[in-house]
Amino acid sequence: MTSSATGTPAPRPFPQMGEHAGEPHSDSLGDKLNSLRAAVLGANDGIVSTAGLVMGVAGATADRQVILIAGLAGLVAGALSMAVGEYVSVSTQRDTERALIAKETRELSEEPEDELAELAELYRQKGLSQGLARQVAVELTAHDALRSHLDIELGIDPDQLTNPWHAAWASMISFTAGALLPLLTITLFSPDLRVVVTLAAVGLALAGTGFLSARIGGAPVRPAVRRVVIGGVLAMAVTYAIGSLIGLGIA
Ligand SMILES: [Zn+2]
Repeated sequence: MTSSATGTPAPRPFPQMGEHAGEPHSDSLGDKLNSLRAAVLGANDGIVSTAGLVMGVAGATADRQVILIAGLAGLVAGALSMAVGEYVSVSTQRDTERALIAKETRELSEEPEDELAELAELYRQKGLSQGLARQVAVELTAHDALRSHLDIELGIDPDQLTNPWHAAWASMISFTAGALLPLLTITLFSPDLRVVVTLAAVGLALAGTGFLSARIGGAPVRPAVRRVVIGGVLAMAVTYAIGSLIGLGIA
């Protein structure tokens, strides 16, 4: 199970989507795409881990109730583990960002001249002439010194700090949504159909998540779909084989 993407600091989401500095709404679009990508990854995790689990159990036994209990336990454990992981990772990231904001605020009040020079230097490094960089720094400092420093020095938007609870809920819900698919196909179909139907449904669903995550990230679609489908089918094949071997040993 991998932790989904909301927790990892995304430096600049999707530059290939045509994001330009100062373009209106580009940041909120990037945020929406980041949430969508996290949801797709969470669903993908739910599908693969639950499919592997229930296939393994189905390899060992035809008992529907046993498969259902194992699958449900896997779903709940996975969803909670995703939520806790996401909460911890986003909380840590937010604490770090808050500490940086506090540090920058203190520096601005204690050494405003140094901070002005620092801002001007950063704009000079970006390609502005010394005089213009100084002028930009002076005007930005007059407008909103803290926000300007956070933006160019640290890449932090103080209004956009990720909420750990939102991240936790989102990954829990997307994992559960993904996990429900193999759980339903393996328990609703008859013993002679359940493995084939689950294999087909999971393969199709993974093709969908592979397609979506490639499109969101601007990556080529075919290799992404191939990787995620092959990975998922392999996971199911391995657990089913192990389950079958154990089932034979028990019988
Ligand atoms: Zn600064």
